[in-house]
Amino acid sequence: MSFASLGLSAQILKAVANKGYDTPSPIQAQAIPAVLEGKDVMAAAQTGTGKTAGFTLPLLELLSKGNKAPAKQVRALVLTPTRELAAQVGESVEIYGKNLPLKSAVIFGGVGIGPQISKLSRGVDILVATPGRLLDLYNQRAVNFSQLEVLVLDEADRMLDMGFIHDIKKILAILPAKRQNLMFSATFSDDIRKLAKGLVNNPVEISVTPRNATANTVKQWICPVDKGQKASVLVKLIKQHDWQQVLVFSRTKHGANRLAKNLDAKGITAAAIHGNKSQGARTKALAEFKSGDVRVLVATDIAARGLDIDQLPQVVNFDLPNVPEDYVHRIGRTGRAGATGQAVSLVSDEEIKLLRDIELLIKQNLERRVIEGFEPSHKLPETDLTRKSHGQNKGPRNSNSRGSNQKRSNSGGKPANRQSQSRNKQDNAGKSEHKDGQRSGEAARGHKPNDKNPRHAKSSKPGSAPLSGQRRSRRSDNSTQG
Ligand code: AMP
Repeated sequence: MSFASLGLSAQILKAVANKGYDTPSPIQAQAIPAVLEGKDVMAAAQTGTGKTAGFTLPLLELLSKGNKAPAKQVRALVLTPTRELAAQVGESVEIYGKNLPLKSAVIFGGVGIGPQISKLSRGVDILVATPGRLLDLYNQRAVNFSQLEVLVLDEADRMLDMGFIHDIKKILAILPAKRQNLMFSATFSDDIRKLAKGLVNNPVEISVTPRNATANTVKQWICPVDKGQKASVLVKLIKQHDWQQVLVFSRTKHGANRLAKNLDAKGITAAAIHGNKSQGARTKALAEFKSGDVRVLVATDIAARGLDIDQLPQVVNFDLPNVPEDYVHRIGRTGRAGATGQAVSLVSDEEIKLLRDIELLIKQNLERRVIEGFEPSHKLPETDLTRKSHGQNKGPRNSNSRGSNQKRSNSGGKPANRQSQSRNKQDNAGKSEHKDGQRSGEAARGHKPNDKNPRHAKSSKPGSAPLSGQRRSRRSDNSTQG
């Protein structure tokens, strides 16, 4: 199949060819015709599948046929959870739309609002925005949606993870009822489906990867190692394999800073990217990483969301993520759009429960490779994915929640355990937010994180679907919110 057969105009085909794409990816082949027909779309597609072009190309095509946006009006709104993803999508809109007379803008928090107001005042055909700053601008009457034609919700699962449900509802309430809706999400939890119900009408449903599958172009393995040896083993791996461009995930901002310093001291150029860094510092670190001036980029989950680095060969999980779905997102940074990549996780015995949750999610035991000279003194127990209960794989981090979980669910299966684990982490995340002196995006916008807030009060349903986004909103690094 070619892009030309999808019904795109010559100007768009030229931009696509310039970018070097010759064949539409599966999501593009399915989404482009559906969007061009004016249908609502609900797509399960993780990052790396080419989903951005999947909605951007037909959006440009549709908009190029209508009238230009009048002052303060927006014709298509793309909502993204993070600033980085907004910037990335905005860049794609520019690239694919460079031969068209359409105006686009990207708005997010953490940067001056003045230039955004002035850009909106002239009218924007495609606006890419994070929810918080968008609402600020709307409340200041800088933007009007009465002529909106299309809404795109990108990475909807992450929106819920980050506690954006209230903002999304507020935004939906100010949009015209008659519009085309496109919703993209890596995973489709019950909460996402609930959100979709009130959003999309009779949608074309597209799924390009099995739920929670990891890209099969990624070679994954784990390195069992003692916690205190992780930095040293990472140095050894980088030097031994001569890895030139490595994205390393750290669970905490402080851990990311510490590791970047440590690597630098060992002669491996490194930069950290996380929510405590200014937007300018993050943009600079990313540019240096992309250009090869910096060999290792150490990132927290949220900061790394939306990073698009072509053909990233190497991802390292310095710590395993608290939420197993994040593992899938993390390794989605490599092996993108058909390129092969490698994802290595450094796993200490304390992380055994997290490892087991990940392996259950991706339905495979990850290959283990012990590195000579770094044999762990605390052996990493084997993971048995056939056993139903989590009770025996004790990870210290979640031991408190186990008892309450058993009381809450008599199914003993993984969903209830994950919910419990998630609740526990939510508590921990709250603590680390205070420690870092950082407020959550919600708190910053005046939502009180008390029990009246449904996302905090929501009770667990035994045997319900995997982690709901709302239950997962326990992040300590969410300052990339708009
Ligand atoms: P996305 O899933 O939208 O983040 O895209 C992942 C990566 O795939 C980006 O680097 C795109 O530039 C690239 N890409 C998107 N579509 C294609 C295509 N049809 N052929 C080759 N690469 C693509």
